[in-house]
Amino acid sequence: MTCAVKLRRVFAASCWRSSKPRSVTARRCKNHPDIFCYVCGSFAIKTQRRKIINDLRNIYKLYFDCPLGDQDKAWVPQTICSACSNGLRDWLNKRKSSMPFAIPMVWREQKNHYNDCYFCNVNVR
Ligand SMILES: [Zn+2]
Ligand SMILES: [Zn+2]
Repeated sequence: MTCAVKLRRVFAASCWRSSKPRSVTARRCKNHPDIFCYVCGSFAIKTQRRKIINDLRNIYKLYFDCPLGDQDKAWVPQTICSACSNGLRDWLNKRKSSMPFAIPMVWREQKNHYNDCYFCNVNVR
């Protein structure tokens, strides 16, 4: 279900992009996407940020049944927080039965940075 929603959104984003050659996302966000976790969308302080490496992508796909994608897009975090990283590994190693949430964050390209941008509108403590 999440996959379908995501695909539709990605498709909409690319339609929008092709009609408007200059992307608004050229403007930098108030908060850099990489300070957020790809999986839960939470702000992660520097010591809690982990790179999304291949085995995490595989576990993510197994758990959520949806590929961890868009890693080549500037508007998608390329970071996972330590809680999600550990949670996924613990689930794989059967130390935990599930993650605290069933549906991961769904990322889509923002239309503007005023009211349609997660990174600009979230308040980072
Ligand atoms: Zn923004
Ligand atoms: Zn997380």
